[in-house]
Amino acid sequence: MIALLGDKIRFFDTTLRDGEQTPGVSLSPDEKLTIATLLSDIGVTVIEAGSAAASVGEREAIKLIADAGLSAECCTYVRAMKLDIDYAADAGADSIHLVIPVSDLHIEKKMRKTRAEVSDMAFKAVEYAKERGLIVELSGEDASRADQQFLLEIFREGVNRGADRLCVCDTVGLLTPERTREIIPPLNIAPLSIHCHNDLGLALANSLEALKAGATCAHVTVNGIGERSGNTPLEELVMALKVLYGTDTGVTTEKLYHLSNVVSRLTGVPLPMHKAIIGEMAFTHESGIHAHGVLREPSTYETYSPELIGRKRRFLLGKHSGAAAVEAALSDLDYSPNREQLNEILLRIKVMGDMGKRVTDADLMAITDAVMLIEREPELVLKQFTVVSGNNVIPTASVTLLVRGEEITSASTGDGPVDAAMEALRKTVSDVADITLLEYHVDAISGGTDALVDVTVTLEKDGKQMTSRGARTDIITASVEAMITGMNRLLGEEHEDRS
Ligand code: MN
Repeated sequence: MIALLGDKIRFFDTTLRDGEQTPGVSLSPDEKLTIATLLSDIGVTVIEAGSAAASVGEREAIKLIADAGLSAECCTYVRAMKLDIDYAADAGADSIHLVIPVSDLHIEKKMRKTRAEVSDMAFKAVEYAKERGLIVELSGEDASRADQQFLLEIFREGVNRGADRLCVCDTVGLLTPERTREIIPPLNIAPLSIHCHNDLGLALANSLEALKAGATCAHVTVNGIGERSGNTPLEELVMALKVLYGTDTGVTTEKLYHLSNVVSRLTGVPLPMHKAIIGEMAFTHESGIHAHGVLREPSTYETYSPELIGRKRRFLLGKHSGAAAVEAALSDLDYSPNREQLNEILLRIKVMGDMGKRVTDADLMAITDAVMLIEREPELVLKQFTVVSGNNVIPTASVTLLVRGEEITSASTGDGPVDAAMEALRKTVSDVADITLLEYHVDAISGGTDALVDVTVTLEKDGKQMTSRGARTDIITASVEAMITGMNRLLGEEHEDRS
């Protein structure tokens, strides 16, 4: 490992500003404070909390974050306007991200101004912000397409007028690592940040290159959310620096996955399945060879240990599975089949996989029970369920189950008919067990409205997780089936010995 990078790399997180500019994303002040607190705790240096001029709510959020006593610096985006700077200072921000268009394209076509006019606005804004006691990060918008001599002049005079830090924005993601290496060194006249966009998938590479070329701070967002294809992902940059360059970033990596999930939940932007670091598949193994390798020595097929970012590895069973992974999964479920039984279980798993089905825990248990000739009384039997839904009614469900022989009926309302049914089911068993629904996933197997709907749920009881499925043409029935199958298995865990 080569330590090419200085030991003082700072992270300027713009999840709450550039990230929030993701079309369709809007965070309340309280949600922003939740995210800012996590960002500060994890070790981010600067939090760009929003755009002070955007709205009243935005200023309220900046004030909340500025007053929260976080160790991170509270920054806000401003244009070169007195009004914006006043909003920032009045909201109590520590610093401003003062953004000035610097490419001729932006100066002429967007601003309809001249270089001289824009420079003048920038310098006046720097001076006024200093008067108002703000730390100033002077940022060149579209800097990667600007005349680099002009950019250097603006930066130099900006620093003369009081700017504390500078920032190069690759606003539309056109930098290459080679070009980055060229343009950064001459601009190192004050602490320099790099702000990259991921339009060609190069944000991480360009950010690393800028840091190697002398920049000391990278602008990032959690999960890489942001305008268009987003910004440099915090988690990718932190982990690349740690794993590949041996840099101590000061970020508590064990909290990264939790942070990703909170941001995903609050912004409503799902984590892409194959996304580096945080995607569902990043530490999931199915193929026999890989699972076997990882079980013997994790580094055979894992770049670093999932615990390092607060995750766990997972094995999925399917047609690529081998005996080692199936044996490991069965041992987790307290089964100990003999060699012959294991081969038969593996064969049946592969048949399910060939039919295009994901093999859930409940499927694996049902297969194993059949192969090992284990009979068990169901813990739950569905007697009836009714769901009322439509316009002008609150979706309501009632469910009657035989719970260990005793008939119990519960009712619940919900956000929709499925939600109401799930909640009614949970209530029905709540006297015997506290079961929570962690994940709910639907696939339609064929195209039309008569399609078979395949519902997979992940349930949890006392830290034990269980996946199960239901497949019907009716989504509510499929959901109820998946829930009851999973709940049956979780309740059965309590008093069974399968050896
Ligand atoms: Mn941006």
